[in-house]
Amino acid sequence: MQETTDTPHNDGTVPVQWCSWHKGMAVARPVQIIEQGEGAGGTLYACRPCRITYKLDALPTWFAWEALFNHLGGDGTNRPCWPCNRFEPCPEGAVLWAALRQEQEADK
Ligand SMILES: [Zn+2]
Ligand SMILES: [Zn+2]
Repeated sequence: MQETTDTPHNDGTVPVQWCSWHKGMAVARPVQIIEQGEGAGGTLYACRPCRITYKLDALPTWFAWEALFNHLGGDGTNRPCWPCNRFEPCPEGAVLWAALRQEQEADK
């Protein structure tokens, strides 16, 4: 009996949202807003096919990347993480990696 978490589950709560790209309800995630016509701003949602078609990054994934990058490379107030840069993830780094992986799974 082995429990794997290969497939993402959201505890039964499926985030159905209005996809602003194909204009319909779908399981969608908030995405980075890239100058969509007039007045960029606010949060838009895109379903998976549209994210692939239009090469959109889901915001949580984007933030997870940024947090990891800041941890690895420093962000002005924090110095680069020495253990993580030597491929020995520190506890904080391990959490950030796990968070990123989780978001990437959710993007699939
Ligand atoms: Zn869509
Ligand atoms: Zn670290």
